[in-house]
Amino acid sequence: MCGIVGAVAQRDVVEILIDGLHRLEYRGYDSAGVAVLGEDKTMQIVRRVGKVKSLEQAVNAKPLLGGTGIAHTRWATHGEPSEINAHPHRSGHIAVVHNGIIENYQELKEQLQTRGYMFQSQTDTEVIAHLVEWELRSAKTLLEAVQKAVVQLRGAYGTVVMNEQDPERLIVARSGSPLVIGYGVGENFLASDPLALLSVTRRFTYLEEGDVAEITRRTVSIFNRVGEPVEREIHEGNFEADAADKGQYRHYMQKEIFEQPVAIINTLDGRIKDGKVDIQSIAPNAVEILSNVQHVQIVACGTSYNAGMVARYWFESIAGVSCDVEIASEFRYRKFVTRPNSLLITLSQSGETADTLAALRLAKESGYMAAMTICNVASSSLVRESDFAFMTKAGVEIGVASTKAFTTQLTCLLLLNVALGRLNGHVSEEQEHHIVQALQRLPTQIESALVFDKQIEKLSEDFADKHHTLFLGRGEYYPIAMESALKLKEISYIHAEAYAAGELKHGPLALIDSEMPVVVVAPENDLLEKVKSNIEEVRARGGQLYVFADNDAGFENATGFKTIVLPKVDEVTAPIFYTVPLQLLSYHIAIIKGTDVDQPRNLAKAVTVE
Ligand code: GLU
Repeated sequence: MCGIVGAVAQRDVVEILIDGLHRLEYRGYDSAGVAVLGEDKTMQIVRRVGKVKSLEQAVNAKPLLGGTGIAHTRWATHGEPSEINAHPHRSGHIAVVHNGIIENYQELKEQLQTRGYMFQSQTDTEVIAHLVEWELRSAKTLLEAVQKAVVQLRGAYGTVVMNEQDPERLIVARSGSPLVIGYGVGENFLASDPLALLSVTRRFTYLEEGDVAEITRRTVSIFNRVGEPVEREIHEGNFEADAADKGQYRHYMQKEIFEQPVAIINTLDGRIKDGKVDIQSIAPNAVEILSNVQHVQIVACGTSYNAGMVARYWFESIAGVSCDVEIASEFRYRKFVTRPNSLLITLSQSGETADTLAALRLAKESGYMAAMTICNVASSSLVRESDFAFMTKAGVEIGVASTKAFTTQLTCLLLLNVALGRLNGHVSEEQEHHIVQALQRLPTQIESALVFDKQIEKLSEDFADKHHTLFLGRGEYYPIAMESALKLKEISYIHAEAYAAGELKHGPLALIDSEMPVVVVAPENDLLEKVKSNIEEVRARGGQLYVFADNDAGFENATGFKTIVLPKVDEVTAPIFYTVPLQLLSYHIAIIKGTDVDQPRNLAKAVTVE
């Protein structure tokens, strides 16, 4: 969820640790801390509430030096964001950082208290520090102590342990929260995401579930969950060097909105051959699996769930396959019936979303014919644990509010629909060409939507002093309205709800007054007349309307409400296209409100806790 960075080197690593935290800050950011072992072999810990910047200032003022160190940005789950609760946590000579949740911490805490340990913080994490300290009393090595400690933990953790009395060694353990080891020359590193280490290395090993590793300057030894030594592959990372750079943009989110044409081009790249979807390019075993699919179950959270909701319309209309979509945290805790020949699809930007991952693991034991994931991070747990993965190639997404991950997920889902429909005879050659061409035109069309930025910025002024907003759409535009409402909530803190426009009269119409802006997605299509009637219903009750439409929808001379009239685009890809101007609307409203666009309060990227 949040970020971990660690290093064992001969040189001073404080700057590397702080740089790493900055790169990870988008994941969690209510407090941060660093612990280092310097020349005099005493541990120094600095922790601060707030952003990495305040930690950096404190570190610079100190100054702090050391060749072995661990650092953390926290997204609090247990205990308020405070200096006392910030990591690293200490017990005697031991210091610990941790991502995740220790579910049995209360039980362990009571046990440790009877052994005489005094707790300083309200976190679940502190039990790890004391537990390792306790085990080290009887263990021969720090590695052994950590191995003995982690088997007592329930829940999710990515954790790193440092010992003041054994200064050239770090022990890391992974169960549920990702950890990666980065290799240098005569120095080694670790982090919760390789992005953190791009200034020092491009060579990484991803730890697997249950792994515990010992890292020194010259060696990395990895042990599996039963303590056997294992070899894990070393990957040469092919990362965009400037991924963590905002470039000319004011915010990552803005950069990522504007990157969408390129992100879609990249996602289409290599997936289309001779005007047709190259099914083989999805995955080598895709043809075999997809040929037998009779039902699709999508499981996801947040924005990815909204992408799944759009895809449901496609699966039933394009591929002719029944489709259910469910929020992962619900799916994983209810009894469900698995339909015959059912394909499970998980959607996640990070591939580490805890609830989605749990749903995948559950589904694997529940008779699904196969599990595929549509994901943006190739090294992620979802990708590794699924039968096959269809990668979005959005590039690193840093803004907490997802933008390009959503539109590239939709791109993959549309390609998948064509593949499935061709294999089951539901999509004709002509229809396939039509959809493929529409997808190929989409990046340029999105460019033309981005041109409306200034106009949308102007429109956003009307929303800044409002407390509530409604988004309406029909068909695929209903989930697009859901996604737009989610974006507005996330970054502007304005309460926003989405309704299927036809639902309006069944309740929400009661909310309409001059203080309630209503955003309607109304491109020209078979449902336009119905949407126009809904617009009239709002207008008749004094609602303030903002209509996003195209130049065939007949709104050019509309009076009594404001319109953004976009170019007409292919119907099949139009839901992806309309997402973009609506992202811009939320972005500009948030700018006027002065919120922290890239790191909205209380949220974090990659939700690796339940
Ligand atoms: N559960 C731990 C805490 O609240 C770690 C949270 C995190 O992943 O940052 O301190």
